[in-house]
Amino acid sequence: MKLGVFIERDGVLNQVRVERQHQVSPLTLEEFKVNTDAAPLLKQLKAAGLTLIVTTNQPGISRGYLMRRELDRMHDLMRRSLPIDDILVCAHDETDHCPCRKPQSGLFVEAGYKWRLTLDRSFVISDKWQDAEAARAVGCTSLLLKSPWIGSAHHDFVLPNLSAVVEKILHLRAGVPALAV
Ligand SMILES: [Zn+2]
Repeated sequence: MKLGVFIERDGVLNQVRVERQHQVSPLTLEEFKVNTDAAPLLKQLKAAGLTLIVTTNQPGISRGYLMRRELDRMHDLMRRSLPIDDILVCAHDETDHCPCRKPQSGLFVEAGYKWRLTLDRSFVISDKWQDAEAARAVGCTSLLLKSPWIGSAHHDFVLPNLSAVVEKILHLRAGVPALAV
């Protein structure tokens, strides 16, 4: 049984600007600041055998103000800076009505197929309610970082920081009997 941890990108693994109570995603590599403090914490999750999948809504691509090549450069930097296995992007706008824009669960389902993950034993880390909603739809356990964006929809845990989230996942993981892969 392979388990995944789906991690929201903006605000968790890289810094974001906040304007009028909304997070603004970086548009250039120059603006893109990876939270390198996350690296040792993610290493602990990797050491526990978890597959780390970064997911992100980037509607700027569909809307035309974020260039795909620039996004690829940002994600190359993130892959070099953090021990992650994959980065999955929804490039659509709300008006595209795609199945992958969170709170839809399409990115989790896609990663589940690609990496053969047992979704209902996997975990989601985010600072936003949309990830908790997507987690609920596919049976993942959601762990939210305390933030102005967690809303009041269902979530499993709210914790003060990434260190506490990782500790909680390792604790929950230890309660799952190891099965042959
Ligand atoms: Zn999409």
